Amino acid sequence: MPELPEVETIRRGLLPLVKERTIEAVWISPQAPKLVAYPSTELFCRQLQGRRLLDVARRGKFLLFPLDDGRTWIVHLRMTGTLHHSRQGCQLPYLRARFLLDDGSFLCYQDQRKLGRMWLVDDPLPIVGSLGPEPFSPSLTGHPLAEALVKRRAPIKSILLDQRVMAGIGNIYADEALFQAGIHPLRPAASLGEEEVERLLEAVRTVLAEALAHGGTSFRSYVDSSGRPGSHQHYVRVFRREGLPCPQCQTPITRAKVGGRSTYYCANCQS
Ligand SMILES: [Zn+2]
Repeated sequence: MPELPEVETIRRGLLPLVKERTIEAVWISPQAPKLVAYPSTELFCRQLQGRRLLDVARRGKFLLFPLDDGRTWIVHLRMTGTLHHSRQGCQLPYLRARFLLDDGSFLCYQDQRKLGRMWLVDDPLPIVGSLGPEPFSPSLTGHPLAEALVKRRAPIKSILLDQRVMAGIGNIYADEALFQAGIHPLRPAASLGEEEVERLLEAVRTVLAEALAHGGTSFRSYVDSSGRPGSHQHYVRVFRREGLPCPQCQTPITRAKVGGRSTYYCANCQS
């Protein structure tokens, strides 16, 4: 699933290609009746046509395209959605939407599992307003995060996935950050001391920055704005490495379920 580094990689790639471009035509596959969450698919196509893209922004795992009429086109890729730019038209399979731009290029939206969603709204706040701070936000030092965790008895892994606490972290980077910080994923969030919270936030920022430098992680369908996969899957330390030696102590990596999600950790390094 695309998380912050993947969505940010797409944003950075798309920005110089689509900024100030006008959308000339919109096509939504009849096989993706749920892709447009708001308004109706018909209205979405009609209202997006002729609009100029002023910017490409990101909030958590959401892509936001502010438009010249004051509205915002929002995209959430969820599990298997990809959005890339092409000068040759869009390829099958799993093509769910196609946007023709005024320079003859295309934005192609592919999504095998069809869980991705798009909105066209006057105000993005009802969609993204409940998101917690961005991990790289300077205002998010250990203290506000510690305050958010203090009353939570849920495992720290589940709290890291809670987009209201911090936006943009998913399964891969939660596991990688907890390993980096030496914190067991099942620890109740409230049991973390101030120093551990500091260490965890530092680890979150480090793993996200590494993944960004590698153009994101491609275990499945993720590709960047030009259709290329990322390379961070070659650098992960615990995620999907069950039974393989821990890079620090050689103990085989353990896999467990936390809040219904597969979780990978080193039972020796993460206390
Ligand atoms: Zn270890």
